Amino acid sequence: MKAMKPLHLESLVIHGGDAQQDPHGALVSPLYQTSTFVFPDAETGGRRFAGEEAGYIYSRLGNPTVNLLEQRVAALEGMEAGAAAATGMGAVAAATMAFLKAGDHVIASDCIYGCSFALFSHLFERFGVKVSFVDLSDSKAFAAAFRANTKLVFLETPANPHLKLIDLSSVGEICARHPDVRLIVDNTFMTPLLQRPGDFGAHLVVHSATKYLNGHGDVVAGVITGSQEDIHLIKMTTLKDMGATMSPHDAWLITRGLKTLALRMQRHCESATVVADFLVKHPAIEKVYFPGLNDHPGHELIGTQMKSAGAVIAFELRGGYQAGVQLLNRLNMIRVAVSLGDAESLIQHPASMTHSPLTPEAREQAGITDGLIRISVGLEQVDDIIADLSQSLSQLKHSTASANGASVSEVAQV
Ligand SMILES: *Cc1c(COP(=O)(O)O)cnc(C)c1O
Repeated sequence: MKAMKPLHLESLVIHGGDAQQDPHGALVSPLYQTSTFVFPDAETGGRRFAGEEAGYIYSRLGNPTVNLLEQRVAALEGMEAGAAAATGMGAVAAATMAFLKAGDHVIASDCIYGCSFALFSHLFERFGVKVSFVDLSDSKAFAAAFRANTKLVFLETPANPHLKLIDLSSVGEICARHPDVRLIVDNTFMTPLLQRPGDFGAHLVVHSATKYLNGHGDVVAGVITGSQEDIHLIKMTTLKDMGATMSPHDAWLITRGLKTLALRMQRHCESATVVADFLVKHPAIEKVYFPGLNDHPGHELIGTQMKSAGAVIAFELRGGYQAGVQLLNRLNMIRVAVSLGDAESLIQHPASMTHSPLTPEAREQAGITDGLIRISVGLEQVDDIIADLSQSLSQLKHSTASANGASVSEVAQV
């Protein structure tokens, strides 16, 4: 190919990475749905195992369909290499544990995905790894959290439950003073189209590809990107030996989904801005959490570290717990489900759903108030999203009054 300018992200979602040269000239890279690869002779097999010759061996160690996806996401993140995992949590676990041993210390943001929090606080503890959960938007507290044995810093921005933003250039600068520490960013909410943590000093970027990267709600998967050396280590240790690798079929679907990522993100973000404006003005709503709002802490990071506010919005209903349940139950089009980044708008009520096993006090501590709702704005025509929210919210007025005076525990039993 002639030398040409590097492609834009909007083209890399379609062409990024070395597309395989299919012997039959297929436009779409084939699905190598195979567990193992046949060696032409024993000597070749030996050389591949010894790492003396490139070539596939067994799909847990590498697969052409999975490899294409790994290279494409790495190209999008501006990283050298990628490693695909069975789930987003498989990616988080593989990316962190590859660099840790008993006695090590990790600094994690105090606002991270629930299962990442569980992994770090429960499992890591059992293996002798200490984790400090720190408010990383406070650079003094962050700088003070480093210890001689700190190996990793882990964060998400924006993050649940209130779309907390963290200044990546500030975190990156502080991390640069500790050359042995790796900075890992979970970029699931943004995708590389809206934010590239590697540009701010992140060594590894992880994704739940279940969300926007695939975008069609039919796969659970994860991806890690980073330097050639780090990705090789992850592939040869935690991924190979713990085995949470991606199925070729899932990789094929995500590669297909990725082709429309730029178009989808544009639509998601445009609609989310309109939905947030609608929610801010609604009398049944006390507060809206959305990075696109002027009063959102860190709003100024839009345009510098993030291209847009994303499409996940949280809001607080005045009517509390009961209003949350009723809002969800009366929706017609918007689907009541966890997850985000799908074509369908998805809505959830943490107090009655994801966080219902917790006591109201424990929820309060985690910032999950009884009237908190999260919506992932989908790809439907935005007027339909607003119409559905509007008809359901308008029915809350009566119930809001009757819920007044009821205690949280009384309401919770309704
Ligand atoms: C969903 C999610 C994960 C976990 O991903 P799975 O694919 O469900 O394992 C991790 N981080 C964030 C921010 C997520 O939204």
